[in-house]
Amino acid sequence: MIGFMPEFYPDELVYSLLARYYQRSGYLAYIHAARDLYAVPSIRPDMYFINPMRDEAWELITRETGTDAVILEHTMVPAYARFLPVEARQETLQQMSRMEGRPYMMLKVTHRRQDRTRYLRYCPECAERDRELYGEAYWHRSAQIQGIDVCPEHGCYLCDSELVVSANTPPMLVTAEELIPQASGVVKCENEMQNRLAEYVLELFNSELEVDNPVTVGEFLHSRLHGTKYVSLRGEQRNITLLQRDFANFYETLPGNTFTRKQQSEDRFDTISGTNGLLGAADGAFLLTKAKRTANDAMLDIAGRDQQDQRLHLVRNTKTLLWEMESAETELWEEEPDPLLEEVARVALHSEQKKQKPIRLNWFLPAAHCLGIGPAPAQ
Ligand SMILES: [Zn+2]
Repeated sequence: MIGFMPEFYPDELVYSLLARYYQRSGYLAYIHAARDLYAVPSIRPDMYFINPMRDEAWELITRETGTDAVILEHTMVPAYARFLPVEARQETLQQMSRMEGRPYMMLKVTHRRQDRTRYLRYCPECAERDRELYGEAYWHRSAQIQGIDVCPEHGCYLCDSELVVSANTPPMLVTAEELIPQASGVVKCENEMQNRLAEYVLELFNSELEVDNPVTVGEFLHSRLHGTKYVSLRGEQRNITLLQRDFANFYETLPGNTFTRKQQSEDRFDTISGTNGLLGAADGAFLLTKAKRTANDAMLDIAGRDQQDQRLHLVRNTKTLLWEMESAETELWEEEPDPLLEEVARVALHSEQKKQKPIRLNWFLPAAHCLGIGPAPAQ
């Protein structure tokens, strides 16, 4: 039996609300609270989204604002849903309001294995302000947005709490007030680009999510690229290169260079699976790569013990079905395009492609930001 439910603070995560509820209710043990709140009491409370709740709990949580507002204003949904195609967006939100489906799968939230452990984060200055205003700190959504490390409001770095976002630790609800130290060290961010990017990302996060808007992010980006120097009737490749270069220059001053760092191996031969052993045992290797499966031009990279590394540009003769050499490179190879940038270019320049991969916040944003596009993609 749930006696009361606190009201949401602005930008507060559902997890935070439930933690405050648990802390104040005087349960003897967490499991008693879990039995009142969750459809499956042994579930690990989700920090970004919402676990299936018991009816009574869900009614109390949504009673003030309604279901949609809870999902859109108190979970991380806006960071992901706007990048889904319209049908998937509608379906996801419908399922979530019925507490069905798996949010991480529906919203395509990924966590790469090499990424560092994710903790619930906080801004020390926001916490201090919340304590003055509300008498307690709480977990903000905006501090959890991937890709930014700075509080846009206060221009200081966000801090990790001790709460790991996804871990095999026992289920628990912990309030921000319990974990955030009273006097956290505030470190101001002096990097202008980092501050600007954080502001831009937050503005997008908070902009209205148009659930029924059929325009995809790719179409939007494409439309905004039209008439710029990046899109012309011919020389598509050159435009992509230019876009990449401007992109890299734009973010040159960003620490850690999150968006322009090279993510792909410099050595094409690393793309051969199990390369170390394979290439070590061979005297040489020839690697033919094509930008697209259907492309008629290709690059032949040659490496070997007795010869200089080489790259040949080949074109397939569609009549004879033979590869013909167009040119050879002996100068330094050009750097590999960043896959992130390639993806931006792919979507921006080929929005007519039917099978688009979902476009993600973490690379749409920098592209749009760099191009001076407003922060509302679905408009
Ligand atoms: Zn702040």
